[in-house]
Amino acid sequence: MHGARRGLSVSRTSYYRTLQKNRLEGGKPASQHLLGLAMDFVGQDLDRLAERAVSQGFVALKERDHLHIQAYPAGKIPATWYDLALGIGWRPPAS
Ligand SMILES: [Zn+2]
Repeated sequence: MHGARRGLSVSRTSYYRTLQKNRLEGGKPASQHLLGLAMDFVGQDLDRLAERAVSQGFVALKERDHLHIQAYPAGKIPATWYDLALGIGWRPPAS
């Protein structure tokens, strides 16, 4: 996923992760990536993307080498949602 996204020079590097993928990428055990509720980006316009995300109600966290954007503040998703993600038979859309 490369190129301009709505006028910003950023690329999405991570979205939905399986448990295995989350472990390999060093994600937190209760990562919102497991629910398809977080995305990571790299690129030149991370500051502008962060501003835009926050203005639309998302949570933006500047990590060492990328910008992480998630739908909810950490710990705000009920545990049952994580339980669903850890179970079988339910997966968010992959794209
Ligand atoms: Zn992330």
